[in-house]
Amino acid sequence: MDLKKLMTDLEAKNPAQPLYLQAAKEVLETIVDFVNENSQYDKYAIVERILEPERIVKFKVTWVDDKGQIQINRGFRVQHNMAIGPYKGGLRFHKSVTEDTMKFLAFEQTFKNSLTTLPMGGGKGGSDFDPTGKSEGEVMRFCQSFMTELQKYIGPETDVPAGDIGVGGREIGFMYGQYKRIRGEHVGVLTGKGLEWGGSLIRPEATGYGAVYFLEGMLKEKKDSIKGKRVALSGFGNVAWGAALKLEELGAKVVAISGPDGYILDEDGITGEKIAYMDELNATRNNVVAPFAKKYPSAKFFAGKRSWEVKVDIAIPCAIQNELDENDAKVLIANGVKYVVEASNMGCTAEAVTALQKAKVAFAPGKAANAGGVATSGLEMSQNSMKLAWTAKEVDEKLNAIMTNIHDNCVKHGKEKDGYINYVKGANIAGFIKVADAMIAQGIAY
Ligand code: GLU
Repeated sequence: MDLKKLMTDLEAKNPAQPLYLQAAKEVLETIVDFVNENSQYDKYAIVERILEPERIVKFKVTWVDDKGQIQINRGFRVQHNMAIGPYKGGLRFHKSVTEDTMKFLAFEQTFKNSLTTLPMGGGKGGSDFDPTGKSEGEVMRFCQSFMTELQKYIGPETDVPAGDIGVGGREIGFMYGQYKRIRGEHVGVLTGKGLEWGGSLIRPEATGYGAVYFLEGMLKEKKDSIKGKRVALSGFGNVAWGAALKLEELGAKVVAISGPDGYILDEDGITGEKIAYMDELNATRNNVVAPFAKKYPSAKFFAGKRSWEVKVDIAIPCAIQNELDENDAKVLIANGVKYVVEASNMGCTAEAVTALQKAKVAFAPGKAANAGGVATSGLEMSQNSMKLAWTAKEVDEKLNAIMTNIHDNCVKHGKEKDGYINYVKGANIAGFIKVADAMIAQGIAY
């Protein structure tokens, strides 16, 4: 595989798609040696094939707002790779969503889902619909219109969407209702469903829990302990909420969390009722964390700033892509950070990752560290197929085992000569192998 030529061709083919190119470049740079040592991958042009999504569906979503005005949004579903199972991945409703966003996320999802060891291919979808400040009626009408089109392309054995930024239990409910109304089937076509109608226990907590289980693996690798460690989070959404719950349970101290309007610093620790309040604030979809400081006198609010300037041992980005840049990384390093764990997808810029790796900070990429969400979606699919429900303990144990296995697999493929674990390399190689081998076995199908 000729890395330079591949990147030049990719840039020519995907102009104005910087996110997709960033995600692809990171994978190509870290798998190149492995691919060149295993000639079957070049023989079957696996890398070139894996870079091309199998299908991109792009559609119009028209709906009527509370003022009676007609609104038009764009909907997407990128069905990236089906080699190891039905397409699987979330739906993101956020004003920043473009085809580029969807392509990069679907590409990442293929590797992430492979790492879970569950039979799930990679896909991603969403819309540039902005849920901020929308009424429940508006969200429902949007979701119904979105699903009226999306239902043509999905199904429990073909493509199983779930939540992501801006899509939680409420939105999954509205979309599931519409799918059922049109198709007349009550099937496992979405995950993240309500417990009463096919959802899995622990799914809401799973991404955050999983990231902390992965972090435990990293700490163990360094013979370190989570107890008393200071943590900064970003996000204030469902992922940060799950992470905060698990961090508290295991004895770490979350001191800072940021949202779109700034960050909260609370030296008493963000625990118990405060974590529940985070979830309440998130549910309003107003994109503000400032009210937190008004409610809790121990908390200070820093408008327009990010939590990465706080002195912590562990940083866990839980919001959106490229939310931690090189400057943030340098400040974190200067403050003695030891672990950076992406619970968001591609939460750090490429330059930030390089800086962290150079400083020998243990860095876990999203496709490994945040795989707990989709892994538990996979467990929800299994329960739906068997028409039964596991207990919270059963699901949590399986999640923990999956995350430990992903961690160990990253170590296996990412350990460098000096003992430093390059988790990015490890995750990309381990994720690649399963998909690539399945593609070879299935002939020139895609
Ligand atoms: N949106 C989540 C992710 O980025 C979960 C996807 C799913 O559960 O299918 O992995």
